[in-house]
Amino acid sequence: MLPFKLVYSEKYYLPIGEHVFRADKYRLIRERLLQQSVADDGDFLNPGPASESDVLLVHSPHYVNKLMEGSLTAREELEMEIPYSPQVVAAIMLHTGGSILAAERALQDGLCVNLGGGFHHAFPDHGEGFCMINDFAVAIRTMQKRGRIRRAMTVDCDVHQGNGTAFIFGNARHRANMLPSAAATATGVISGATISEGPSKDVFTISLHQENNYPYIKPASSIDVNLPDGCGDMEYLAWLDNALSSGLRQFEPELLCYVAGADPFSQDQLGGLNLTIEGLKRRDELVFRAARARNLPVMTTYAGGYANHVEDTVTIHCNTVIAASEVYRAATTPQG
Ligand SMILES: [Zn+2]
Repeated sequence: MLPFKLVYSEKYYLPIGEHVFRADKYRLIRERLLQQSVADDGDFLNPGPASESDVLLVHSPHYVNKLMEGSLTAREELEMEIPYSPQVVAAIMLHTGGSILAAERALQDGLCVNLGGGFHHAFPDHGEGFCMINDFAVAIRTMQKRGRIRRAMTVDCDVHQGNGTAFIFGNARHRANMLPSAAATATGVISGATISEGPSKDVFTISLHQENNYPYIKPASSIDVNLPDGCGDMEYLAWLDNALSSGLRQFEPELLCYVAGADPFSQDQLGGLNLTIEGLKRRDELVFRAARARNLPVMTTYAGGYANHVEDTVTIHCNTVIAASEVYRAATTPQG
């Protein structure tokens, strides 16, 4: 049994036909976790759908009406890059309910992984880049509304910048600058990437992403790390460590939302970074260790993953659960 819960529904599947976004990955992840005895049936929680009133904490009534009534324009549907249907909306509402449940359970248990969600390209008034509803932004606002938290931090490690999230939490940047990263620079590990910081309100947003990739307009996060094409494990991990330490030095969140995209992988069809499967697992460990050391609850969502072989995407996502179980088991095992 895992020292935390996994949130999953068989209805996470999105009926979008032949697509680079393999919507069957959710089922494949659950099957692999069971098959390899990483998890057992008792580790899974079955979410209900988010309510419209929860979704309205982030999204505009006009947009939510369009989703519910099926009245998106052709252009809006094109921008979403997945075909609209009431079934897709129902599935996304379930992913969003899953993220709300994961946030609740993270606050209770210290960690929870939603085996879905991470739709970070959804804006208040429109969807784009396979994302319809920003599930974890809705989860954060729901936790705030319920009085469970005041401040949260998002750590987005998908290869694509979290533009919807950055916009929603509105951390308009006054200036862009190079952060001192002397230790890492001295080791010769960091080069070519830039980091910029802006002020933040009640939600501090961190995004590590490939600069030269969608979205081409990147609204400012609290910290954006713009990585060069082909960035590998060592450089990536050094930047992540740098951004996390910097964020946690200046902001004290009560909940961390980790967006564990699988698409920084070297074999990803939509990504241009060069991380290995092992490097991605170390990335997960780094985030979980940083949070565990501070007793900071973490809810995790999966976001993108478009490897040439879907098995690799499944491995990377399963490794997130394995990394978490190693970090959280180790932390709860009595010394000696
Ligand atoms: Zn992505």
